[in-house]
Amino acid sequence: MLFKDIIGQHAIKNQLIQTVRENRIPHAQLFTGPEGSGKLPLAIAYAQYINCENKQDEDACGECPSCRKIQQLAHPDLHFSFPVKKASQTKPETSDNYISTWRGAVLENPYMSPRGWYKKLDLENKQGIIPASESNSIIHKLNFKSYEADYKILIMWLPERMHQSTANKLLKMIEEPPPATLFLLVSENPDLLLPTILSRTQKIRVPSIDEENMLAAIQNQHNLDEDKAREVVHLSRGNYLNALHFIETDEESKYHFDRFVSLMRMAYMKDVVGLLNWAEELAPVGRENLKSFLFYAARMIRENFMMNLQLDQIVYLTQEEKNFSSRFSQFIHTGNARRIYNEFNRAYRDIQMNAHAKTILMDLSVQLIKLLRV
Ligand SMILES: [Zn+2]
Repeated sequence: MLFKDIIGQHAIKNQLIQTVRENRIPHAQLFTGPEGSGKLPLAIAYAQYINCENKQDEDACGECPSCRKIQQLAHPDLHFSFPVKKASQTKPETSDNYISTWRGAVLENPYMSPRGWYKKLDLENKQGIIPASESNSIIHKLNFKSYEADYKILIMWLPERMHQSTANKLLKMIEEPPPATLFLLVSENPDLLLPTILSRTQKIRVPSIDEENMLAAIQNQHNLDEDKAREVVHLSRGNYLNALHFIETDEESKYHFDRFVSLMRMAYMKDVVGLLNWAEELAPVGRENLKSFLFYAARMIRENFMMNLQLDQIVYLTQEEKNFSSRFSQFIHTGNARRIYNEFNRAYRDIQMNAHAKTILMDLSVQLIKLLRV
């Protein structure tokens, strides 16, 4: 991972590069800061810079054998430790058991959240742990002389998830590491770390991503017009994961919008054949997608009713939705708004209870035919 691939954070990058140039790299450092700011990618890029064989002024070369291996997260002197599943009595767990899942996840999204990682491990709503057996594994790895690089580096993600005994066992090593050994700890929640660990590490405080750099990154990676990109940046509040979330749900909303518009047109035209096709097409998309659509549709009904009442100042619609609603809102009035809204909510509950999707959507269409002409 190169520094240039990380969004913004120029001051931190310079600060890290400076430690290498002046040959005063602290042997234990703790990266902290809000979610989605880029702490983990910064630690990896730093490790790559430290061991690059052809360092440039502002970045690693990206081409030497060391850089190539680190870019794959597969350098024999770069070790990772991260939360995993709780060990069972028969099977002790260590990060090494999950290293290929880890590489895949980090290469896919180095800004990954703890929740995102636990999902990859199928932990559902539970949190992972850095288990007791991990300390022996780390001590074993770091006591070897480095294979090929100047430094052996351990990047530990979420040290606050360390088992108490792991933390206690590692304390001495963090305080007096073997020669040419670096600890880079990356924490989302440093308040949960043992004070003895905190006091032995140099802090790197990574701030939220500034708006200008976030805007440039988003426009570069996604095909958004300037206004939309600015809206996403504003909503993301310096968290790249938030920005990605808003971009993804924006695409989903567009999909829902198109389905909603055709449903309303056909119901108003009493186009029963069209509605039947509509229900057949929508039914197989899966329960969660259907619920998401019905939730969206209920919201659109509420917003259109507000517009009908000329309460425009409390209407929350995108430009495309507004254009449609400026004509459609006349059909959603005091005589039917509540009942249509309830129909969508009822369909939502029925889908949740696992009733037959196509039947529910057809029933909904029939009710809409009646209610839109009230
Ligand atoms: Zn290099």
